Amino acid sequence: TSFSDFDLKDDILDSLKSLNFTTPTPIQQASLPYSLKGRDIIGIAQTGSGKTAAYVIPILQALWDAQTPYFACVLAPTRELAYQIRETFDALGANMGLRCATIVGGMDMMDQAKELMRKPHVIVATPGRLMDHLENTKGFSLRAMKYLVMDEADRLLDMEFGPVLDKIFQVLPRERKTYLFSATLTSKVEKLQRASLTDPAKVEV
Ligand code: AMP
Repeated sequence: TSFSDFDLKDDILDSLKSLNFTTPTPIQQASLPYSLKGRDIIGIAQTGSGKTAAYVIPILQALWDAQTPYFACVLAPTRELAYQIRETFDALGANMGLRCATIVGGMDMMDQAKELMRKPHVIVATPGRLMDHLENTKGFSLRAMKYLVMDEADRLLDMEFGPVLDKIFQVLPRERKTYLFSATLTSKVEKLQRASLTDPAKVEV
């Protein structure tokens, strides 16, 4: 299988080519047929498996047709992971004028509020700081969001982000696609899955 077997936009295929991504990794190969058809995904995959591109690709494919603000939101347990995810979005979205914001703790709230007011297509965030902006940054909401990703969900829950996630879910549209990726499928992750995904395709590599 190659990426050209999937019906991807040329802009995305070109970015994949310039990154030297020719063959989908197993998690990409297993999940793309479902995600590109609009299914929710629960993916059990380790770091290094190519899980990031596995969810970035279907989001960019959908965004290509409708470039609306706050289209997708990715939640990550740590700042470092958030920055890595943002790099993947920037690299794969380079040909389509993608605007991304990274919203993590420890950085200036006002600077981040200004970034949010530039209406990015994608927000990569740690949960606590995202909730802070949802509560305090005037004019910012995720009511128009189409895609939610929880990356390294087991670590999100280990770091006690569960209650913040519940709060975030309350202000997200119900009508959305949701992708949950985790290295392990713990009972807490299963509970999170039931609270946030609809009829997901389960993909394990
Ligand atoms: P991740 O598991 O998302 O952290 O990705 C691990 C590494 O694999 C990253 O350095 C990616 O750039 C790289 N990668 C992801 N997908 C592919 C692919 N299809 N072909 C080659 N490298 C890839």
